[in-house]
Amino acid sequence: MREQALQRLKEIFGYAEFRGQQADIIDQVATGGDALVLMPTGGGKSLCYQIPGLLREGLAVIVSPLIALMDDQVATLNELGLKAAALNSTLSEDDQRLIAGQMRRGELDFLYLAPERLLKPRTLQFLQTLDIALFAIDEAHCVSQWGHDFRPEYLQLGQLAEHFPQVPRMALTATADERTQQDISQRLKLENAPCFISGFDRPNIFYRIVPKDKPRQQLLGMLARHKGNAGIVYCLSRRKVDDIAQWLSGQGWPALPYHAGLPSELRATHQKRFLNEDGLIMVATIAFGMGIDKSNVRFVAHMDLPKSIEAYYQETGRAGRDGLPADAWMAYGLQDVLMLNQIMANSEGDERHKRIERHKLDAMLGLCEITSCRRQMLLDYFGETLPEPCGYCDNCVEPADTWDGSEAAKMALSSAYRSGQRYGVGHLVDILLGRDNEKIRSAGHQHLSTYGIGKHLSEQEWRSVFRQLIARGLAEIDLDGYGSLRLSESCRALLRGEETLALRKDATRTAALPSRSGEKAVIAEADKPLWEALRALRKKLAEAHGVPPYVIFPDSTLVDMLRQRPGNLQDMGLVSGIGSHKLERYGADFLQVLVGDAPAASGAEEASRDAQALAMAGMTAEQISRQLSMPVKQVYMQLAQAISIGKLALHQAIELPPGQLERIQDAFLNEAEEDLPGVRTVAKELEEPVEEGVLHCIRAALIHEIAGA
Ligand code: ADP
Ligand code: ZN
Repeated sequence: MREQALQRLKEIFGYAEFRGQQADIIDQVATGGDALVLMPTGGGKSLCYQIPGLLREGLAVIVSPLIALMDDQVATLNELGLKAAALNSTLSEDDQRLIAGQMRRGELDFLYLAPERLLKPRTLQFLQTLDIALFAIDEAHCVSQWGHDFRPEYLQLGQLAEHFPQVPRMALTATADERTQQDISQRLKLENAPCFISGFDRPNIFYRIVPKDKPRQQLLGMLARHKGNAGIVYCLSRRKVDDIAQWLSGQGWPALPYHAGLPSELRATHQKRFLNEDGLIMVATIAFGMGIDKSNVRFVAHMDLPKSIEAYYQETGRAGRDGLPADAWMAYGLQDVLMLNQIMANSEGDERHKRIERHKLDAMLGLCEITSCRRQMLLDYFGETLPEPCGYCDNCVEPADTWDGSEAAKMALSSAYRSGQRYGVGHLVDILLGRDNEKIRSAGHQHLSTYGIGKHLSEQEWRSVFRQLIARGLAEIDLDGYGSLRLSESCRALLRGEETLALRKDATRTAALPSRSGEKAVIAEADKPLWEALRALRKKLAEAHGVPPYVIFPDSTLVDMLRQRPGNLQDMGLVSGIGSHKLERYGADFLQVLVGDAPAASGAEEASRDAQALAMAGMTAEQISRQLSMPVKQVYMQLAQAISIGKLALHQAIELPPGQLERIQDAFLNEAEEDLPGVRTVAKELEEPVEEGVLHCIRAALIHEIAGA
């Protein structure tokens, strides 16, 4: 069985080897067993049911909660040359009948549907008349009330065990916690199924968390390393989403807003654009997420603190599904904590529930202020141990400076205590700095013994002290809605001088500048033009096929193309993610972009090759000019050069309304000279103004034609 599985992996999917536990899982299910699969996002869950689905007789049925996800999966399988369909309510009666017919005749390999659809008595009866290869229940955590995506329909899926006792069933999820896992095996009747648990680490994600200090500028600093990349910027409120999206657009970044307050068509349009276009930034509330199957999200930025580590892990997890380097970046401040506290205080739910939420927020804060490896803490939270610091987070790459904050902490805590634990951090800082204002005077706080004792630190530094005290549970913000700071039990030892406290020094503002060590760039600067050319070609093909670009090839495949630089179709077939079907369909097109010209080239020639490659990939001269930071005129000159030697077709370089091209060609040929006239001469003769560069290209094409004639 393993041999056959590997053969399918290479031949159809174009991958060289299985990852992690894929081979074991596939073996288990392909030989008729059940399985529970917990694997992080991007780990490669789909193959775990797709390959057994191919190896076993009959139809593989996949249950999935979201129609948008299904359509993507079906498109991906179709692109691989496999027969897949989705049954859902958006289909017409006719289409549904068509699919039913295919199923009856055994012409389908894969069928995707929503649970409510599957569980209709009619559907179940129909399926019982067919050969079923397996049932795969995707996003299986939806069965758990504990999770965030609970779907009541999922509870009924346990029935499958009775209706189809002979058919292997598997449940798959990326959710980490144990409780959900128990729910899944119990509710889906998979108690006896082996459980395949992969670690939850996402090694390609770089974690960075910075204290808020002019957050918009900080965001720009982070974005500077992500020109042309797709990413998500999460904000807490709808208003902030609108503001930030608008502001980013004003700064020249292609950004779209997404939140539950927008009309649903607009939301759908924005989501669709995000999926289909390269390099868009989605500014969103957490309403955006579930159902994002885009594999090349290069960064997730949080402009506000998420309410728990689970939420943080899930939201940042949307970056880098393709396994290429991705950034999880966050700016947070105490204001966020107040805000979340307020939301929590106003939320429904009993005290116990609120207390749990509160603990979760505390843990999140702890992650923000920790001075050791972030990944270690993150994984530890999910019960997993990373023996060594990861070397791929901000704290590992630039170890935080610490200072002995014991005295400062005592001052901070005692100002809170002496003012009656009824004031927020802003006021406490005013006390420490000895500021004179209305609030201080009306409370008589200028007489406190802590008044003005903290002048050796700046306001910024005091805020940092308070933040860290809260994050370490030495003080806590009251749920009274005013953000009053109270002392915790645990601060006693510190106050009595029995313990010391090392605090982290906040990085200074310059640290928010771009291009720091640590985060890896996916594409080397020198490869950018070719990369853009490959992306442009992919986009053109995607549009022609009516699918999102990553369905044609994921970014990881384009990256591997750049790395391997195949020079012929045979080598192209060795690129990761190019199976036989895709090789046949797209191999030649991509090869053309890659091969371009002779290998050794001077700088100028190289540039002209770049321009040519980009033109071949469907870019206009204006786009190429922007891409290569080269004047449009120069782009045209280079394209003309390529045309004159037959390396580029005229229609690939310019676009003119029908008729106009002939008029211009006539103008060139009508001159009674031996040689073709220059472009200036012709430009004067034409009635309509035409860019000189365009004339150069047309002239070059004529020269090539005449030379060849
Ligand atoms: P998940 O559903 O677990 O988030 P996917 O099934 O979407 O992950 O896989 C993530 C990416 O990894 C996809 O682009 C997929 O084609 C790729 N992939 C999966 N298995 C392998 C493998 N064995 N080798 C190389 N790439 C793989
Ligand atoms: Zn680390």
